[in-house]
Amino acid sequence: MPDLDTEYFHSIQNKEMPLIVQKYGGTSVADLERIQDVAERVAMTYSAGNDLVVVLSAMAGVTDGLLRLANQITDDPDRRELDVLLATGEQTTVSLLSIMLESMGYPARSLLGYQAEIVTNRAFGRARILEIHAERIKDLLSKRKIVAVAGFQGRDQKGDITTLGRGGSDTSAVALASALKADVCEIYTDVDGVYTTDPNICKSARKLDRISYDEMLEMASLGAKVLQIRAVEFAKKFNVPVHVRSSFKEEKGTMVVEEEKDMERLVVSGVAYSKDEARITLTRVPDRPGIASKIFTPIAEAGIVVDMIIQNTRKSGLTDLTFTVPKSEYQRAMAIQKEVAKSIGAEEVLGDEHIAKVSVIGVGMRSHSGVASKTFAALADENINIMMISTSEIKISCIIEEKYTELAVRVLHNAFGLNAP
Ligand code: ADP
Ligand code: ASP
Ligand code: MG
Repeated sequence: MPDLDTEYFHSIQNKEMPLIVQKYGGTSVADLERIQDVAERVAMTYSAGNDLVVVLSAMAGVTDGLLRLANQITDDPDRRELDVLLATGEQTTVSLLSIMLESMGYPARSLLGYQAEIVTNRAFGRARILEIHAERIKDLLSKRKIVAVAGFQGRDQKGDITTLGRGGSDTSAVALASALKADVCEIYTDVDGVYTTDPNICKSARKLDRISYDEMLEMASLGAKVLQIRAVEFAKKFNVPVHVRSSFKEEKGTMVVEEEKDMERLVVSGVAYSKDEARITLTRVPDRPGIASKIFTPIAEAGIVVDMIIQNTRKSGLTDLTFTVPKSEYQRAMAIQKEVAKSIGAEEVLGDEHIAKVSVIGVGMRSHSGVASKTFAALADENINIMMISTSEIKISCIIEEKYTELAVRVLHNAFGLNAP
């Protein structure tokens, strides 16, 4: 049962009726037994005198299964229809939880995204929340109902169903917490907090008690899927306290909060990785003004987000240009570039889907040099070749061969002294 002896609880326990938003991820609602555990935790939180909104993901693997079904029909399913399909995963879990709670004697109501009036733009598959009209939820809460909201989905201004991108239930939860001015947003998942790196691939990863919004933002944007990046953006913008914790254990997890003066400020605070990108190279591109725009404008018009770009100039007035795109957009991006290559007279278009990005992250990097050289040396010691590099004030990312991902993460984690004592 939930550990109520947490700092935020101390700060809210004097309130008449604290409001808590709890979000449970796929593994936490994987089958009826797990849903029963969720129902018990929800019932306890409710009985302790809290108002409660519960946001659920689909059962583990269900969203992937639905995607596979659509892809058996076509590589490029109609995006509106795909969202109608994908949204069904969360419909199953919210209704099951409500049935379970009602049968246990607790008053519960499920709401789908459109019923909760989560209004988004029309970018199917990666919609952004524009506003939430929370009157219906507030009304249900005022009647002391437990409100179970389907995560990952909303509706656009025409009323069409949209989804928020993979991992989007985190964003549903934080956005609801912000709209309802909840006291805390609890993210229940299959790890017991945010670690210095993915604890599933690095056994010596260390759990953090607190992490600042900025560092969490960087971790999430570089691949740490424990929180969806938009959820962290929302939390930071509206100052929503987020508590990431395990749905299988009682202990306190990690608080994601504003940067505090006494916060641990290590040079490097974490290592992240992503296998979700692919690399495209155009060879022997004419080196003259306007060419980069000819290459990237059609990609932008197709709504594809480019991450890293490098250009090598050759003596001959020709250059090679390499960039990365999300793996899910690789086929579309390749098709576009084959056309571009013809029109600008580039030699060929090469692609590679078997790459990974590993990144070291830390706000302390701003004031320290030597992080880059240490990163490169650690990878070199293991003979891991670096294909592309990008840096910012608070991170260094390297593109490497996918098969070295786990090794690279462990080596970097160790090199920067992040291992648990
Ligand atoms: P859920 O289904 O609950 O939303 P996710 O699979 O989306 O769960 O996110 C949790 C996973 O995030 C963990 O199982 C872990 O493998 C991964 N992860 C990656 N980086 C980190 C990190 N730094 N700290 C904790 N978990 C991480
Ligand atoms: N079910 C969705 C997914 O698998 C949303 C989520 O789990 O947050 O991406
Ligand atoms: Mg998730």
